[in-house]
Amino acid sequence: MKALTYHGSHRAGVGTVPDPILQAPDDIILRVTATAICGSDLHLYRGKIPGTDQGYIFGHEFMCEVVEAGPEVTSVAVRDRVVVPFVIACGDCFFCHMHQYAACETTNSGRGAIINKKNITPPAALFGFSNLYGGVPGGQAEYVRVPKANVGPFKVPLALPDDKVRFLSDILPTAWQGVQNAGLDKGSSVAIFGAGSVGLLSAACSRLVGSEEIFMIDHNNYRLEFARARYRRHTDQR
Ligand SMILES: [Zn+2]
Ligand SMILES: [Zn+2]
Repeated sequence: MKALTYHGSHRAGVGTVPDPILQAPDDIILRVTATAICGSDLHLYRGKIPGTDQGYIFGHEFMCEVVEAGPEVTSVAVRDRVVVPFVIACGDCFFCHMHQYAACETTNSGRGAIINKKNITPPAALFGFSNLYGGVPGGQAEYVRVPKANVGPFKVPLALPDDKVRFLSDILPTAWQGVQNAGLDKGSSVAIFGAGSVGLLSAACSRLVGSEEIFMIDHNNYRLEFARARYRRHTDQR
């Protein structure tokens, strides 16, 4: 299959790699129908993340169709359309039972972030995010293997196009979490640093919870123009 692979700092390109295969009874194989580049992929691309092997496949935001499922997979089936969160969680450890899937204690055989010098349990494995996060190949590829398929992937109705749901893999929940953590509600004011995709979705989520004043800060004018145009359009529609 074709996939985007890493070949050292600032060198990545599309190459041919072996197709993924089922490795555990609760794995699925997906055919990727839409995928995205995340700002955090830039850390990998710039060679800033140790444990990124030559030929490693990036990508943790993808929409797919299930093409193969292991015998223990019960929550999705072949031909289902699914969106996959970027965190790989077991669903059965201390943190998973508290729905804190990013802190899953069992899926990451790596060390976690480089700041983890205290020998604490690393957080969950992530798709396409180096050996520090489990070394699981990512989804900027034609096919991807998804471990723990009864926990992460969820089915998407056929009526919804990929572009409406793909952002559920990372950036929309990231934006929503930011709005929740900031405690925004009706009438609040918010300053959002960075008018990239997470910033724009944070503005959308802020509006959803009733924020009245939204400031966006960015050093790229074109991003601010885009944010302003979107905001105007939404305001005009009301
Ligand atoms: Zn991301
Ligand atoms: Zn877990």
